[in-house]
Amino acid sequence: MTDTLVTEYFHSWNVPAERAALVSRQVAHWIDGAPVVSGMPIAVSEPSTGGRLTETLEAGVEVVDRAVASARQAFEGSWGALRPLDREALILKLADSLEAHQDELAFLESVDVGKPLSQAFAIDIGGAVDCVRYFAGWATKISGRTGDMAAYDKHFLGLTLRQPVGVVAAIAPWNFPLQTLIWKIGAAFAAGCTVVAKPSEVTPVSTLRLAELITQAGFPNGAFNVVNGTGAVTGAALVSHPGVNKVSFTGSTPSGLRVGTAALQNMTRLTLELGGKSPALVFADSNVDAVVEGLYNGIYFNAGQVCDATSRAIVDVRIYDEVRERLIERATSVHVLPGLDPDSGMGPMVSGAHRAKVMSYIEQARADGLPFALDRSQLHDRGHFVGPVIVEDIPSAHPLWREEIFGPVLALSRADGPGDVVCQARDTRYGLGAAIYSRDIGRVLAAARAIDAGTIYVNGYGFLDPAFPFGGLGMSGFGKDMGAEQMEAYLETKTLLVSGIELGLAG
Ligand code: NAD
Repeated sequence: MTDTLVTEYFHSWNVPAERAALVSRQVAHWIDGAPVVSGMPIAVSEPSTGGRLTETLEAGVEVVDRAVASARQAFEGSWGALRPLDREALILKLADSLEAHQDELAFLESVDVGKPLSQAFAIDIGGAVDCVRYFAGWATKISGRTGDMAAYDKHFLGLTLRQPVGVVAAIAPWNFPLQTLIWKIGAAFAAGCTVVAKPSEVTPVSTLRLAELITQAGFPNGAFNVVNGTGAVTGAALVSHPGVNKVSFTGSTPSGLRVGTAALQNMTRLTLELGGKSPALVFADSNVDAVVEGLYNGIYFNAGQVCDATSRAIVDVRIYDEVRERLIERATSVHVLPGLDPDSGMGPMVSGAHRAKVMSYIEQARADGLPFALDRSQLHDRGHFVGPVIVEDIPSAHPLWREEIFGPVLALSRADGPGDVVCQARDTRYGLGAAIYSRDIGRVLAAARAIDAGTIYVNGYGFLDPAFPFGGLGMSGFGKDMGAEQMEAYLETKTLLVSGIELGLAG
């Protein structure tokens, strides 16, 4: 299904025929352990060339119904019947399988999203393997509590039962298609839930392969299902389905508001991992080497298409010029190239539509006369590339300061001392991430308390870990992915209040 632009791209990087075939096949749904072909086709593009990669299909209400029914049947049957140790063993088998297919999955992610192959290998797939392995252990560590009741005497006992919430709808965005989905299903499987996944219609390729690998690993049919399609049709049908017990959504804040409203009509449990406009707080005492590398990764990793990208860098005026010059140098040297090119340090935007959105912010900044410290936005004559951009001295009411651009555009601001660094950082309704750069631990802790952000990196950027929770505050959503905290979101608590222990003995 690939067009000649994409075929030539594959030839130029010696992509083996079987790998090209895997990415160019039609992306079907996956229900009850088998592919399902149904619905109108949706074209999927390859971002480095702008050519056609393949197509997926749009699941309507009937297909979504079948997927939810399959997940329900597995939850109440084959999957629900497994012992926790058997669930753990299967999840570990999945981690091994992902690792064994790391090359292939990284290739799928690179050509679907446009990201450099080496980064897809190490971060997208490597991170997914770690996450699955981490959650496997939780399957056997689920427990309630037992205790004396406070208002009753020793003849009474209180205890809690922890049970899986049931069928989970896992909705993923396009920037880390496999990884964001894995963040959800690792915990869901460990808790004993079954899943209906909906990948982004822009990047559906790796999720179908994941479904095949899950089935091959020995998971019962129905434990993991996939419905493809747009948010407006397939996503909306899934989140408003009364058979879904929990929605775990990762995407933009406007979509999250719609998803939340729909899910609450059925009182469906919710996790909303949404967008951000995260600040980097750079104090005068920081290590400038760490700052430059952290700011660079904070906005240019994955071409800025990262939910917790530190897209606003607020730098104490005493080190501003040095940081500015070195950051410009670093961002000028990066090779912005197609994802399969081994020299690529940064790839294109995911689609033509997204490139147009990012460029509209850049053009607005130009029209408003804002100063550009760096402008590599126009780079290649094909593909959806936008290179690194740095804009300075942005008024706080300007969209470049306030809105999530989701591209390689850094708002760089000078601050008049530590108080001003914190004050500017707080100037947002989002609360997803932040980075603090300082050698003074007291200052780091004070700043961390003062800003509203769910995940705060200190003296670096981007080193998320499956053992620690990730999630937003404010307009960045609520609930956590990863860590012990995520398990809570996939478990219900039932309280048992027991009376008559002595009566039992007397009988
Ligand atoms: P998006 O909101 O357009 O779509 C995300 C997913 O939701 C897609 O699968 C889409 O089809 C689906 N969707 C859209 N509307 C829906 C609806 N009404 N009902 C059900 N499903 C619906 O976001 P995107 O453009 O794919 O991804 C980029 C956004 O995701 C950015 O805002 C980014 O910050 C955010 N994001 C957040 C995190 C996080 O962990 N907080 C991680 C990655 C991306």
